[in-house]
Amino acid sequence: ESDLPEREAALIARRDAVLGASYRLQYRRPVHFVRGEGMWLYDPDGRAYLDFYNNVPSLGHCHPEVNAAMAKQAARISANTRYLEPRLVDYAERLVGTFPEELDRVVFTCTGSESNDLALRIARFASGGEGVIVSSYAYHGTSGAVAAVSPNLGDAVKLSPFVRMVSLPGPAGIPESQAGDFFEAQIRSAILDLNRRGMGVAALLIDSIFSSDGVWVDPPGFIAGGVAAVREAGGLVIADEVQPGFGRTGTHMWGFERHGIVPDLVTLGKPMGNGFPIGAVVGRQAPMERFGATARYSNTFAGNTVGIATADAVLTILERDQIRQNALAMGQRLRAGLEEMAMKHREVRAIRNAGLFFGVDIGSEDTSAAARRAMALDIVNAMRDDGVLVSTTGANEDALKVRPPLVCGAEHVDLFIAAAERAITTVAG
Ligand code: PMP
Repeated sequence: ESDLPEREAALIARRDAVLGASYRLQYRRPVHFVRGEGMWLYDPDGRAYLDFYNNVPSLGHCHPEVNAAMAKQAARISANTRYLEPRLVDYAERLVGTFPEELDRVVFTCTGSESNDLALRIARFASGGEGVIVSSYAYHGTSGAVAAVSPNLGDAVKLSPFVRMVSLPGPAGIPESQAGDFFEAQIRSAILDLNRRGMGVAALLIDSIFSSDGVWVDPPGFIAGGVAAVREAGGLVIADEVQPGFGRTGTHMWGFERHGIVPDLVTLGKPMGNGFPIGAVVGRQAPMERFGATARYSNTFAGNTVGIATADAVLTILERDQIRQNALAMGQRLRAGLEEMAMKHREVRAIRNAGLFFGVDIGSEDTSAAARRAMALDIVNAMRDDGVLVSTTGANEDALKVRPPLVCGAEHVDLFIAAAERAITTVAG
């Protein structure tokens, strides 16, 4: 970090002193942005960075219409959900209208973590069970209850005694033809163990593109057998749509639809407000009503009129501008570019994607896990120096995590591919 400009070095020292160690910075040479517009972020010197990482501003950074809707409502009133407010009901109806008809209830939250925390409470209430089944590198959020079912946090948290982790077929090297059976068998043994210990099954909680496990999307439908097994055992199925939701997978509005299942509860966050903190739990009437009639859920900021006006504008633009369809087309273009690159560079080991969410495994088979991880990190940093933002994911952190705003155009895809090729050539040299 010694070659950092004085201005950045001083800021890092002050950050460390006041914010402490839990505030991590991305990149060896941290970036400082002062402005965002569409696919681009700008540093204080006016240098533009192409954003292929941030999935919150799906409609692009600082979308003028979203900002206008937010500002207009903020200038009028920001009220909570205990007052009669037609826009709250209008948006709630619109939102559940994008789901299969069984899912017709919604409760608003402020973050993805709150959504998952609430969904777990509802699932435990409705099922009478305690056990929660998650994938082996899942991340579901920050609250105590959801951090305790997030193995991705590693040694930093004590996992709940009620959590059971299941391996995914892809990382376990299982052929696609056996993927569903493998997943279901893992789930069945988790259920057996939970029941044997008298905990019962409250929920299967999964992000259907398994983003923190390294982006394992195929084959579509592989989760269906496991989902059925959980229902059979009296548990609820919670689809964490914080990552795949709102059209990112290109083919569907919601990630679970790719797998041909209908969950009991669905949790939303990140792109719902294009940057404004708003989330939700959408669910089937029975568990939602059972919980709502007995338990109390009042959340000061959730569903406030400013958040609702913002989310409403986001949904309007998403539909009007055919953002999901764009994610599909640009995902195909990006995949073709990456495949071409993989033919030239054996360091590109595998490419997985659904729409505009990619995991790109880095490092050839014959190198060590540590070498592959180091190479992925070198590529991420080389691309940053070249003005393109990506990160890593997966159990070994050796997959590039690529998930641009969904307004990405062909010219951005081509710039990204050129930068990735330069980085791989430099790093693999
Ligand atoms: N679920 C998933 C799958 C996530 O990726 C995240 C955030 N990275 C969360 C939940 C938590 O969302 P938030 O940070 O908004 O609380």
